Amino acid sequence: MSDPDCIFCKIVAGDIPSAQIDSDERTVAFMDINPATRGHVLIIPRRHHRDVLTIDADDLNACTLMAKQIAARVMDKLGADGVNLLNSCGSAAWQTVFHFHMHVIPRYIDDSARDALKLPWVPKAGDMADIAAAAAELGA
Ligand code: 5GP
Ligand code: ZN
Repeated sequence: MSDPDCIFCKIVAGDIPSAQIDSDERTVAFMDINPATRGHVLIIPRRHHRDVLTIDADDLNACTLMAKQIAARVMDKLGADGVNLLNSCGSAAWQTVFHFHMHVIPRYIDDSARDALKLPWVPKAGDMADIAAAAAELGA
């Protein structure tokens, strides 16, 4: 399952270069070419899936387990103080490459040279009635 027009499928196939750091039978881990912080890694399934809504459970599990391993590695080997795991689903959620991927973003305290990220929302108390209404809509 591969898409000839997909840049990440081309990375899996080795048709375009990437700085690969690990892989297994289902996944490939490689460095993001536009790192948000020092050591930003992407985890992708070898097979093409558009996003988290369409990926199958086995490939999703494999990506999640690889992300966990790489998260531990950035803490251990890069001296990160924390790590964000991020997935974007859909353009509205900032997805730009439509081959499922998980970002592993190392975080560094008080180190703007390696980490200039800011929380992209301002936490403030929500409307309790609307929170309850959304919960009612979301319940199974
Ligand atoms: P998204 O915006 O879809 O959540 O993330 C896509 C990520 O892929 C971006 O962070 C972008 O920098 C990265 N990216 C896009 N094209 C390439 C590429 O050709 N090589 C590598 N290594 N990363 C890429
Ligand atoms: Zn693809």
